[in-house]
Amino acid sequence: MLPERRRQYLETIGIDLWVKRTRVASGVVPAETPAAAPAAPAAVATAFGAVAAAPEAAIEWQQLLEQVRRCTLCPLHSTRTQGVLGVGPKRADWLVIGEAPGAEEDRRGEPFVGAAGQLLDAMLRAIGLDRRTNVYIANVLKSRPPNNRDPRPEEVEACLPYLVRQIALLQPKIMLAVGRIAAQNLLGTDAPLGRLRGRVHHFGERQTPLVVTYHPAYLLRTPADKRKAWEDLKFARSVYQQLTQGAADGNRS
Ligand code: SF4
Repeated sequence: MLPERRRQYLETIGIDLWVKRTRVASGVVPAETPAAAPAAPAAVATAFGAVAAAPEAAIEWQQLLEQVRRCTLCPLHSTRTQGVLGVGPKRADWLVIGEAPGAEEDRRGEPFVGAAGQLLDAMLRAIGLDRRTNVYIANVLKSRPPNNRDPRPEEVEACLPYLVRQIALLQPKIMLAVGRIAAQNLLGTDAPLGRLRGRVHHFGERQTPLVVTYHPAYLLRTPADKRKAWEDLKFARSVYQQLTQGAADGNRS
């Protein structure tokens, strides 16, 4: 991605750019590379490609969508407008997982719309991702909890098989859990989010690498933590690049 475009995305996210300084005899002078926005390798923006789902997988996706729309496995079905399965290409390398649909998502049937969705999109674009081309977005819960309360354990237990099925169909190379609720439920822990950031976890039978960061709705309320979220995104991108590079090296040997 061009440095200027990355700069625009970071400004959209709300991260103030600062310039790395180099000490010289007369004081400090700016270095040429903005430290908050390292130039990505030219391949990054194009290296997150996705392929279309196979016909049989497309049928399974449709069945899954219908199951979620008709689902009455937990009481949330009685208060939701509609079940929200997810959005994005069906074989994306990246899977972003949030908590549950909010009011706008419940109304429109798509996860992460509204202000939090716009911030998530900007965060993703900052590392060369786009929900229309190379990232799939879903939630742990497919139905909105009333008044956006936290999901209850029994609701998560009832709904998680849908997400597990989504992951089996997607086969993402990396997962990004956004927010405490998503991270704790996916990892089966009550550890605070701060202790889950900055390292690679693994999820499910395929041991898919999973990185944790803040929920964009939290970042809208707490903009001071946007820089930490940016560090998480860069970390996730580096994990993905190592994975894909390792796979490419393996194929060549
Ligand atoms: S939250 Fe999940 S389990 Fe509960 S009704 Fe919605 S789709 Fe079904």
